[in-house]
Amino acid sequence: MALDPETFDALIDTVRRFVAERLRPLEERVAEEDEVPAEIVAEMRAMGLFGLSIPEAHGGLGLTMSEEARVALEFGRTTPAFRSVFGTNVGIGSQGLVMAGTDEQKAEWLPGIASGAVITSFCLTEPGAGSDGASVQSRAVRDGDIYRLSGTKRFITNADKASLFTVMARTGGEGAGGVSAFLVPADLPGVGVGKPERKMGQQGAHVCDVGFDETPVPAANRLGEEGEGFKIAMRVLDRGRLHIAAVCVGVAERLIADSVAYAAERRQFGKALAEFQLIQAMIADSKTEAMAARALVIEAARLKDEGRPITLEAAAAKYFASEMVGRVADHAVQIFGGAGYIADYGIERLYRDVRLFRIYEGTSQIQQLVIARETIKRGG
Ligand SMILES: Cc1cc2nc3c(=O)[nH]c(=O)nc-3n(C[C@H](O)[C@H](O)[C@H](O)COP(=O)(O)OP(=O)(O)OC[C@H]3O[C@@H](n4cnc5c(N)ncnc54)[C@H](O)[C@@H]3O)c2cc1C
Repeated sequence: MALDPETFDALIDTVRRFVAERLRPLEERVAEEDEVPAEIVAEMRAMGLFGLSIPEAHGGLGLTMSEEARVALEFGRTTPAFRSVFGTNVGIGSQGLVMAGTDEQKAEWLPGIASGAVITSFCLTEPGAGSDGASVQSRAVRDGDIYRLSGTKRFITNADKASLFTVMARTGGEGAGGVSAFLVPADLPGVGVGKPERKMGQQGAHVCDVGFDETPVPAANRLGEEGEGFKIAMRVLDRGRLHIAAVCVGVAERLIADSVAYAAERRQFGKALAEFQLIQAMIADSKTEAMAARALVIEAARLKDEGRPITLEAAAAKYFASEMVGRVADHAVQIFGGAGYIADYGIERLYRDVRLFRIYEGTSQIQQLVIARETIKRGG
């Protein structure tokens, strides 16, 4: 259910101020220390950010997709690592449970996820299974009331902080129909989390390997029926892709604002950069593309809120928005000139940060395949 407009406007206003006044001044520190300060995480908990998408009945804010996209967009106006703190709880880490969990599973876990007391991660990718998620080799073998889970998951966001993993593992034969999903508490025997990887950007958001060695997972922790895990993961990703597209729009809008401010102030040949038509062309292209991506996100979120399938629309929004923000970041570096390449100005950091959006939650190539498949299925 949507919040009443006044409450929602107040939430957006609070988020906007939090981003501008609390987060933006900390961007460099977070990049250097590769850690979001604990007091910021505590403030995010107090604001209810971990529960944006969790139903109100389970302690969350129960935002609609359109409302969640607006919040994600506001968080795009700062280092994307800040959003990652609560990103898995709002998206890929919780939505399998929200969509396919039993009443008991929801009652046990969702209140902690909504408050941020429980951090969740989504474990699909493996060393041998990336874009081809249906080829996962992690195995869950039924043994009475438990499954024994073994395997390695790769590049798992927030794994070092997670107390609950949603794990896709094989319970049947090859292919998508042999995959099941499980809720796996991090304190079960045989669970091991690797060290955070060193990355190109988005410092402050951690990814790690997660290993399972004969981990005894209660059968009651299976999400849905055996063989439904891949389908659940794909539905979770439809939603996640839309959220990421909204973040891309936010980052693009931030980069355009920074570029315009710089171009108005910096003078060459006796004029402000903003007076040069070749600079204006870059601003115009960036602005047009950001507006187009925003429109795609709003439309896809509206369809989702109407209960319509959005596999095509979410893939198209993620594909266009993530490629768009790469081009906008490139223009921003160009408009800043040498300063765009120098760390102190922060533009090169965002340029590196946005590169990830074309890769995770399905690469651009995978989005193209999904868009083409769905378009052909719909007969154009
Ligand atoms: C920072 C970060 C955070 C992540 N967080 C998570 C997480 O929380 N949970 C999780 O499960 N995973 C996570 N991932 C994994 C991410 O989703 C995968 O990296 C991504 O899906 C791509 O898989 P891959 O890296 O194995 O690349 P590959 O699948 O090996 O692809 C390599 C290249 O080949 C292309 N390619 C592959 N198949 C095709 C095809 N059929 N047609 C055309 N081109 C193709 C790809 O587009 C890409 O360009 C994360 C990754 C990163 C880097």
